[in-house]
Amino acid sequence: MVSTERYLVVEELLSNNSIQKEVMIENVAKAIEVEQGFDENDELVGRSPPTFFSSYHRLDEIHKYMKSLESKYPKLASTFSIGKSFEGQDLLVLKIRSGKETKKKPIIWIDGGTHGREWITSASALYIATKLLNEYDLDANITKLIDFYEWYIHPVVNPDGYEYSHTTDRMWRKTRSWTVSLIGCRGVDPNRNWSFKWNYGGSSISPCSHVYSGLIPFSEPEIKAIANFIFDRKNRVKLFLTLHSYSQMWLTPWGWTHEFPSDYEDQHKMANVAVRALRSLYGSIFESGSTTELLYTASGGSDDWAYGYAGIKYSFTAELRDTGKHGFVLPSNQIIPSGEELWIAVKALASEIRKEL
Ligand SMILES: [Zn+2]
Repeated sequence: MVSTERYLVVEELLSNNSIQKEVMIENVAKAIEVEQGFDENDELVGRSPPTFFSSYHRLDEIHKYMKSLESKYPKLASTFSIGKSFEGQDLLVLKIRSGKETKKKPIIWIDGGTHGREWITSASALYIATKLLNEYDLDANITKLIDFYEWYIHPVVNPDGYEYSHTTDRMWRKTRSWTVSLIGCRGVDPNRNWSFKWNYGGSSISPCSHVYSGLIPFSEPEIKAIANFIFDRKNRVKLFLTLHSYSQMWLTPWGWTHEFPSDYEDQHKMANVAVRALRSLYGSIFESGSTTELLYTASGGSDDWAYGYAGIKYSFTAELRDTGKHGFVLPSNQIIPSGEELWIAVKALASEIRKEL
């Protein structure tokens, strides 16, 4: 029997050494609870993985979980809000950093939940945060990576849309702000609302469209808050990674044009570092290439802004599992495998980028 605290570490140890494993009872405590008739949703706070990662969670549960990480790892983790959503929800970010604050470190930014319905992206961002914290001081390489960088994880970029996809419309994508629509269409596509090459194509000026760019760039407070936060630290941000789903792709700029940026060769090489590492665990195949090359034209996206405006060379959009079988409604038993493979990719990227600094 393995404790929840050690589960992820043991699992990685086994897979690194190609030792086959089979989980007989995933959560003994839970099995006992169920046997005893307790509500399995009781006492969410303070739960450790894998329990937390065996299902998708509402926003308040995610915030509680982030704060529980802060309490559990007071020397490494802290949470803070970078602003409020349209409906007044906190835009909560988890910072992971070791050592005294005096030293300025390179930054890695990872966000998820830009589009409401893409639940796996929020779960995966939290999974990365959990791994970083669990493995600090246990794995020398992870410890070095954490010490070297300052990590910011923002798991739910669009909290109003995320909640709406839980309560009302599972396929909701946009924010929930009021628009100029006369028939009451709400929300802006948060990944068409960034100021760089805003409305250059692949977006719509119709408020009822699911790719509505908004009346002006940064009309959405959720997006403006991230832009301010990143721009204030732009010279230190060495990796900007935004998680979306689905289609299994590691996308590089540009999204607004079919032309390739001058750094494309480096960006593509780095994207391949990520997809090769990712594939090594379960064989999941992620394609790598620019957004327009692999997907479609999409202007006003965050990775184009991070690269084109803030000058962050390694700005990627990762489209997580799957390739369409379940699409946005990815079964919750894929949260951990998806998180594991992404974790390997993030580790590889962080080490590779470090070599250039
Ligand atoms: Zn998306």
